[in-house]
Amino acid sequence: MERKFSELLNQGVFSGGKEVERFESQLQDLLGTRFAIPCANGTDALELALRALGVGPGDEVVVPAMTWVSTAEAVVWVGAKPVFWDTDEQGLLRSDWEKAVTERTKAVIPVHLYGKMQQMNELIQKANTYRLFVIEDAAQAFGAHQQRKAAGTWADVGCLSFYPTKNLGALGEAGMCLTQDERLARKIRLLSTHGQPIRDQHELIGRNSRIDTLQAGFLVEMLAEFEANQNIRKRIAQDYIQGLTGIPELILPEGMLEEDHNAHLFVVRTEKRDELQDFLAKNGIGTAIHYPQIIPSMKPFRIEGDFVNAQLLADQSLSLPLNPYLSQEESEYIVKKVRQFFG
Ligand SMILES: *Cc1c(COP(=O)(O)O)cnc(C)c1O
Repeated sequence: MERKFSELLNQGVFSGGKEVERFESQLQDLLGTRFAIPCANGTDALELALRALGVGPGDEVVVPAMTWVSTAEAVVWVGAKPVFWDTDEQGLLRSDWEKAVTERTKAVIPVHLYGKMQQMNELIQKANTYRLFVIEDAAQAFGAHQQRKAAGTWADVGCLSFYPTKNLGALGEAGMCLTQDERLARKIRLLSTHGQPIRDQHELIGRNSRIDTLQAGFLVEMLAEFEANQNIRKRIAQDYIQGLTGIPELILPEGMLEEDHNAHLFVVRTEKRDELQDFLAKNGIGTAIHYPQIIPSMKPFRIEGDFVNAQLLADQSLSLPLNPYLSQEESEYIVKKVRQFFG
């Protein structure tokens, strides 16, 4: 990373350039996507996708009640209305989401929460029935595949985030839109670069959501380690599953070792979540909650509804440490302490 930094510092290239082109083409190859348009962050990717598809005032977009806030934010930011629907117990949009569809519904945004992919064939089929656009929020599922098709390449537009804690993380902020449609790809690119097809020619009202060249450079370096890091994540997940199976009060995540899960987060569920979190903290183990509040209970989005499973995740879920820098010794210690907590 230091080498890459001094290289770019010496070149004096801080926006655009070869490093960005290299990152784009490497991702195209890795994910098997026709178009990969980098942008400033994953939240922008969602907004650019919605704008490119023409979603705006008067439109409704179906969004899961449990997700990172960006998914709902982007919808409001383009002037449309998010319509929240419950998830299943794994945190994926519940399969009866079509009940949320009205004549105003323009799109649906499945979120591959915690790294596990939504069943995309089924979702896209349903979306086609109602003539809805599909935007895939694949921010947490980079590298997961379903039927050999990468997360983010199924929908009209797929959105990625390279926030530092994601499986492919930058040393700062970055994101990307994926699409298989040439016209959409051009539109997204225009929107993200002031509507300029070429310098000083402005075709539409865009904005600046370019990726930072340094981040593109760092991401190219990170990509070289991606597969090895994924193997470590999967190994830790396997160790957790092996070590924590059989505790009656602890529900383990499903499908973590499958190809359509990228082992982004290891999210367990227990009624004693807060006590477990405290106990682990006292033993030097940091955990997190993804996320403690469902979107429909947040102040700017507040709305009543039936969000039982999403609420269950907010109340009972806990993410155990899972990252490529965790040693075997550490993961064994974590298993030991969790077992100790439950006696
Ligand atoms: C991280 C994330 C985003 C947004 O990405 P940023 O790069 O942080 O803007 C969007 N959706 C989900 C589900 C995420 O986890």
